[in-house]
Amino acid sequence: MSIIDIKNSVRNIPDYPKPGIQFKDITTAMRQPEIFKEIIDLLAAHFRERKIDYVVGIDARGFIFGGALAYKLGCGFVPVRKPGKLPADTIAEEYALEYGTDKLEIHKDALKAGDRVVIVDDLVAVGGTAGAAGNLVQKLGATIDSFAFVIELTELGGREKLQNTAEVYSLVRF
Ligand code: AMP
Repeated sequence: MSIIDIKNSVRNIPDYPKPGIQFKDITTAMRQPEIFKEIIDLLAAHFRERKIDYVVGIDARGFIFGGALAYKLGCGFVPVRKPGKLPADTIAEEYALEYGTDKLEIHKDALKAGDRVVIVDDLVAVGGTAGAAGNLVQKLGATIDSFAFVIELTELGGREKLQNTAEVYSLVRF
């Protein structure tokens, strides 16, 4: 099992959800037990020594990888969600997607000053989503150790956008 196997397990769907978008379908990776395990093991190996307090997972595929990573690191999991999903007091941040705009929320009491977090999503494209999650984390006073992704679409500039804020780590690049 290697990075190449992970990369080959991702299915490309042309023109979804709009013409011109090459959608990287990660469901074909995570349905294979050895591939899913390798993804989580590689992420955990990278972050094990870094004293992470919380994994912050982005709605929705960031929950799948972030949840498993938090379990493996023995730290807590904090969800960043689409509007109206979190039940207690929240703060919100608007952001631009590769295809459209959206908003993300986090519970006000989910993080505090001094907490060190890694922000996890399945994929980074232009970096608007992860950037918004990063702004939410920083508004709560917590420190971003890193942004972590299974897939990085290198030509869309997400790394360049995010790396002024924190380190960017990805497993496979297209
Ligand atoms: P961005 O904010 O442009 O970095 O977009 C990242 C978010 O949108 C992630 O949550 C991805 O799941 C999703 N996304 C954006 N572009 C793609 C793509 N080409 N294939 C799959 N998911 C994508």
